Amino acid sequence: MSILIVDDSEDDRILVKTILESAGYGEVLLAPSAEAAFSHLGMDRTWQGSHKVDLILMDLVMPEMNGIEACRQIKAVERLREIPVIMVTVKTNPVDLQLAFAAGAMDFINKPLNRVELLTRVRSVLRLQQEIDRRESREQELLEVMRQLEDANQMLLRLSRLDGLTGITNRRQFDTFLDQEWRRALREAIPLSVIMLDIDNLKPYNDAFGHQVGDECLKQVANAISSQLNRPGDLVARYGGDEFVIVLPGTPPEGAALVAETLRVKIQDLGITYSRSKPSDLVTISLGVAGTVPDRESTPADLVATADQALYQAKQEGRNRVRTFTTTSPPKKVPNE
Ligand code: GH3
Ligand code: MG
Repeated sequence: MSILIVDDSEDDRILVKTILESAGYGEVLLAPSAEAAFSHLGMDRTWQGSHKVDLILMDLVMPEMNGIEACRQIKAVERLREIPVIMVTVKTNPVDLQLAFAAGAMDFINKPLNRVELLTRVRSVLRLQQEIDRRESREQELLEVMRQLEDANQMLLRLSRLDGLTGITNRRQFDTFLDQEWRRALREAIPLSVIMLDIDNLKPYNDAFGHQVGDECLKQVANAISSQLNRPGDLVARYGGDEFVIVLPGTPPEGAALVAETLRVKIQDLGITYSRSKPSDLVTISLGVAGTVPDRESTPADLVATADQALYQAKQEGRNRVRTFTTTSPPKKVPNE
């Protein structure tokens, strides 16, 4: 516990020091002026590190800089702001007291000094300061816990939106996303497309190599599709099983069909071999594309159902191909096939 006494009167400094030391306060520092106090507190330029001061007893009337101005300057320093200051004054002029409290003083003591009053005030200010410190550190702890909770919530939220196996968006988040994009496209009268895709013959692949290898295949396909989509607004999600779905905002079905074809080639080019599959010995995907400019008569579920029908047709027609439907026109074949 270190107490700094700032007083231009040597007698008063010695008196206060004697009283404090007799009451067991170990470290009592003396400063005959505001400037000397600043030096103790490390506020001068030669500062290399300073004593930790727990309390300042500040004479109000001093030549050069008075106690109120000294208090104000100390309180203006961030690292010193919390040190309690007790004003010691012969004058109990209410204006001076008001100025002292406005400058950051916590209490005042009258001169001539009375031993009991001095020790009582010192003790109560120190206790108050300890209480403030304790509360502040509790507040800090609480803030830290809240920050950690917030981080954990964010993480949980992120995880709740992701598919456990592949790490891409899951079906639930896809539904939310598609709804939002549907409403946006409806408002702005712009097209919106969906690609449904399904791995060809994954069942026999699983049978041939085991479920874990099948899982790896799913992950590889998910990664390849995600990395191929380059518009920031696009979203790829695992729809379930070996089925994936892609939302392409602002993209007409013709554009989506081109994206789908690129994906088809990309997956084939991964070169994942699978001996018992048909029509080739490489893992392939079938894709169904649907796109429309949303209107109030249809729903996002209609768009997904149409893409699903197109996917079904791609499967029927031999797999490893893209089929494209628009929701307003009959099924048609993609021109580049
Ligand atoms: P198709 O060409 O008609 O798509 O035939 P398919 O064998 O891929 O069969 P389908 O898509 O109808 O069924 C999905 C299969 O994908 C069933 C299951 O063997 C496999 N599958 C689904 N989810 C998982 C998974 O999480 N891990 C693994 N390893 N396999 C899965
Ligand atoms: Mg499949």
